[in-house]
Amino acid sequence: MSASPAASAPRRVGFFGGTFNPIHYAHLRIAEEVGDIAGLDEIMFVPSGTPPHRDKPQVSAQQRLEMVRLAIADNPRFTLSSIEVDDREHQCNYTFDTLSALKQRHPEVQFSLICGSDVQSQKWYRFDAILEMLEALYVVYRPGDDAEGMAAAVRRHAGGDERLFAKYHWVQTEGLTVSSTLIRSLVRERRSLRYLLPDAVAEYIHKHSLYGELRS
Ligand code: ATP
Repeated sequence: MSASPAASAPRRVGFFGGTFNPIHYAHLRIAEEVGDIAGLDEIMFVPSGTPPHRDKPQVSAQQRLEMVRLAIADNPRFTLSSIEVDDREHQCNYTFDTLSALKQRHPEVQFSLICGSDVQSQKWYRFDAILEMLEALYVVYRPGDDAEGMAAAVRRHAGGDERLFAKYHWVQTEGLTVSSTLIRSLVRERRSLRYLLPDAVAEYIHKHSLYGELRS
């Protein structure tokens, strides 16, 4: 992350966490659209090291990181953070810990969080404290999502604090239905990945024989 110029407005960064197993065009499109809508200076992709609520991905964290690096290489507003992948301190990565560490490292930055329907999960650790740290929360609509349920979930996370709830922004992007699950199953079925993710990522998957052995 580049330093913000002295005496200027704070640098506004969108934190976009995910497993990115693998990264695909919906991730990139979401980042681009939220970046535009929110006028963010930077969108920081943060691949999880050990996600708390999922089985351990069968592709290494370094490989997921590398695929994100390839996917965002041509977009100067997109950056990659290995903070979670490099973390040896925690057994699994909670967004609360990651954001706290980032805010400590970059006190001059205003962070927003970008996420999809995951926001409905009950399992977020200290989501109210996460909201407290954020400038804004951008929740992206995903085909099939329950819009009212997502708003209710954020209200619940905010614990009735209207000031925290006001940070919530609902974003309807040009919906892409692609998911990492779809990509993995296409690889297993030896079908084409073209137009679902950047060619460089597809080439990496094939070169390293990723996902082929996975069972669903
Ligand atoms: P999987 O299929 O393995 O569950 P995924 O495609 O959902 O993976 P993640 O890495 O889990 O990918 O997603 C990172 C973030 O992007 C999450 O907040 C997720 O909700 C969001 N996201 C992923 N795909 C879409 C999509 N098609 N539309 C909107 N949000 C999405």
